[in-house]
Amino acid sequence: MDIKRIIEEAQRDCAAPFNRLDMIEEENTARVLEAFREYHVAARHFSGTSGYGYGDIGRDTLEEIYAKLFRTQAAIVRPQLTSGTHTLSMCLFGLLLPGDHLLSVTGSPYDTMQSVIGFGKNNTGTLAEMGVTYSEAPLKEGEIDLPTVLSLIRRETRVVLMQRSRGYEWRKAVPPEKMAPAIDAIHKMRPDIFVIVDNCYGEFTTLCEPSFFGADAMAGSLIKNVGGGLAPTGGYVVGTEKAIRRIETRLTAPGIGRETGSYACGYRLFYQGLFMAPHTVKQALKTSVLAARTAEIMGLRSSPRFDDERNDIIQAIRMDNPERLKAFCEGIQAASPVDSFAVPEAWDMPGYEDEVIMAAGTFVSGASIELSADAPMRAPYVAYLQGGLTYAHGKYALERALRLMAERGLL
Ligand SMILES: *Cc1c(COP(=O)(O)O)cnc(C)c1O
Repeated sequence: MDIKRIIEEAQRDCAAPFNRLDMIEEENTARVLEAFREYHVAARHFSGTSGYGYGDIGRDTLEEIYAKLFRTQAAIVRPQLTSGTHTLSMCLFGLLLPGDHLLSVTGSPYDTMQSVIGFGKNNTGTLAEMGVTYSEAPLKEGEIDLPTVLSLIRRETRVVLMQRSRGYEWRKAVPPEKMAPAIDAIHKMRPDIFVIVDNCYGEFTTLCEPSFFGADAMAGSLIKNVGGGLAPTGGYVVGTEKAIRRIETRLTAPGIGRETGSYACGYRLFYQGLFMAPHTVKQALKTSVLAARTAEIMGLRSSPRFDDERNDIIQAIRMDNPERLKAFCEGIQAASPVDSFAVPEAWDMPGYEDEVIMAAGTFVSGASIELSADAPMRAPYVAYLQGGLTYAHGKYALERALRLMAERGLL
């Protein structure tokens, strides 16, 4: 099987989606630059601080830029937020009190969020242990099922959670403009409910973000899209002053909130990463589009299809058996700039219910805006491919992974 020829053929088919991605990158880059201009970003914002970090201008300005960029009143952008899960957990614990009810309206949330809510046997420290009740409304034909959502809202409902990205599900990402009617209807019925959005993997994939449509808070990871591949760690939350004022008490402590938090290494990579993010996200999206088209030509099912509109960077490819999935991940790993010699094995990762296999040879440890493929080891053995700092790397890795599958007689 001539894998190289198939990939070249697939690439030729991708001209129209690639053009659309160029346009999205240009508009988002302009938005980022306008925010940088407004806040007069200069070298002094890149310096590190120590101790309490009172009046840390690099940190405070970065938060103002995020709020501006995402059209919200306030933001928390911190290297001390260790992951997307940590950041979203902070939001939930900030907004929910014992006796409150949490409602997920995009089906079951991402695996690690289930551990925060308290789905599993280990209840220690979870929302469930704190006395927060939980229910969920599945998506209906890929969209928020508004009548069901409204019927599930009860007096104690305090937070409604929406997840933009597909996570480890065989479904499409939810476009921000499709969240808008639900956000409006929920607020109309109950202005006191906080609608929050898990925006992990969604930023800069389109021209708008869920926060443009009235979400009370929206959060994500800096080692995914918004960090642009440069941010070394961290998370962000943007939202209304009212929501952020509650959430910030769980960032540090009540009475302290956003006032403390130093970072000795300085903030250049967070600014530069944000500047790069629209471009980096496009490189990742182009890799996904190419993978989708190539898979399709080879008879593998993929979601989304190559010419579908995209709302996250994830490309799901159905492998149907564990051998194929493993070979694909091994090929992606072997094509990585870091740890190319390692062989990924499925393992029991913290926060996940099934064993997970992860291929990622990244400069920033675990950064999935860098090319990575991962999957929970469960039927139908779907590989979730995401990231890619450069399209050339994505293309090279795709070829290598498919070649390995062909060599093992799996295609
Ligand atoms: C990645 C992700 C998370 C969790 O982020 P981590 O940084 O891996 O903890 C939560 N929700 C979604 C949709 C994600 O993609």
